Amino acid sequence: MIKTIILKKRPVGTPTLADFELIKEEKELKIEEGEILLETKYLSVDPYLRGRMSDAKSYVPPFEVGKPINSGLIAEVIESKNDNFKKGDFVSNRLDWKTVQVSKGEGLQKVDPNKAPLSAYLGIVGMTGLTAYLGLHEIGKPKKGETLVVSGAAGAVGSVVGQIGKILGLTVIGIAGSDEKVELLKSEFGFDHGINYKTTDDMKAAINEAAPNGVDIYFDNVGGEISDAVLFSINKFARMIICGAISVYNSTEIPTGVSVQPFLIKNSALMQGFIVSNYADKFPEAMKQLSTWLGEEKLTYRETIVEGFENTPQAFLDMMAGNKKGKMVVKA
Ligand code: NAP
Repeated sequence: MIKTIILKKRPVGTPTLADFELIKEEKELKIEEGEILLETKYLSVDPYLRGRMSDAKSYVPPFEVGKPINSGLIAEVIESKNDNFKKGDFVSNRLDWKTVQVSKGEGLQKVDPNKAPLSAYLGIVGMTGLTAYLGLHEIGKPKKGETLVVSGAAGAVGSVVGQIGKILGLTVIGIAGSDEKVELLKSEFGFDHGINYKTTDDMKAAINEAAPNGVDIYFDNVGGEISDAVLFSINKFARMIICGAISVYNSTEIPTGVSVQPFLIKNSALMQGFIVSNYADKFPEAMKQLSTWLGEEKLTYRETIVEGFENTPQAFLDMMAGNKKGKMVVKA
């Protein structure tokens, strides 16, 4: 039996399970010369998928209604007629949400389960880790002694950004959506301070109190009101890495907020959008450093693993709603 998850209709506002459909087919897939058969092991559910579910122009094309969704996957080669892959290899790439699929091998990267758990290739030693490392270094240009604020701090990217900040000698403040997550920031990821944005009435005051010397770097995963509040504490020559804006991904109207220009002018500050794929030439060096820190136990990571391929849409909804800690993955 082959299972596939398709986009049934484009979500309006917050996605629901009705936007997805699970299709089951009793068929056997045959491969031709040059092809391999892949069995899905882990699927990544990520905020950017929300953007691809709508038909607005973006840096990646939208999903087609009635077609499979795709995201970062780890799969096992279960049959091969391609000299570059053998049965038992594990590979990673952006692939369809299918339990079994045929591939020509293009774009697949082999991953080694002896070097890191397979799921980690979707997180800390995958896109998530690269995003954290490259966003912070390439735009944030961190210097020892500076103050870094991270939003979405208990999530996949945010929890890594904060830890790298600590390794580099920064004061790190994290913003997250529950007291439990704020506690985790400090106890597990070494953040200096945490703010629960859901129970804080005055975010401006809370950020000001946590960062009495001002904010030099803001790693923005969420946008919206939280990021507006951070602007009031930025220092001269502050750098703001606009990595994500999850707080407005479900908006049905164009979001409005504080006008950023006066803050940028007054502080000679930089605000720059970041897309990890623009830094592909730096992936090897970033991965090397992340692996070294992991080996030295300077970095740690959290995963929330949901069991069962058919639960992927629910895992996506839970990830968007914050019902998880660290990186959310599905074990097929
Ligand atoms: P994640 O942080 O693991 O999961 C998303 C988290 O966002 C949720 O757990 C939730 O945590 C928080 N959130 C949801 N709604 C929110 C709201 N209204 N206000 C504030 N926080 C909200 O996801 P991730 O994979 O690490 O991605 C984090 C961000 O980075 C996303 O915006 C994503 O699009 C972006 N990203 C960008 C790139 C790139 O190349 N630019 C690459 C990867 C990821 P709480 O419980 O704390 O609310």
